[in-house]
Amino acid sequence: MEISHIEHIGIAVKNIGESIKYYEEVLGLKCYAVEEVTDQKVKTAFFMVGQTKIELLESTEPDGPIGKFVEKKGEGIHHLAFATKNLANTLGEVEAKGVQLIDKQPRKGAEGLNIAFLHPKSTGGVLTELCEKTE
Ligand code: ZN
Repeated sequence: MEISHIEHIGIAVKNIGESIKYYEEVLGLKCYAVEEVTDQKVKTAFFMVGQTKIELLESTEPDGPIGKFVEKKGEGIHHLAFATKNLANTLGEVEAKGVQLIDKQPRKGAEGLNIAFLHPKSTGGVLTELCEKTE
């Protein structure tokens, strides 16, 4: 396991356009990318803060994971993502330590990253994502 930094913080929002306004006009950050990730049924918007990103997530379908989250808990912090090396091996290590994995294999996330989620039951209630840069 080799975590280098917090890659991003994922925040579930109802209306990504409204939320972008807050981050840009109030916090003075610049949205540098908006991307739809169809298999996760989300639209994402990214802001750079040092080497960490803020990832806004708006559901494109009510039955998507973010749609369900917002329905149950409202808007707010959804997950914490760590940058790691060698994601496939890391997942094996983490599973061997008894952590429940949501993704047994790395899959494609936004921005061309390989990602995998750990179950919040095993992480003290924090939905945790591990990301690996592919280039
Ligand atoms: Zn994420």
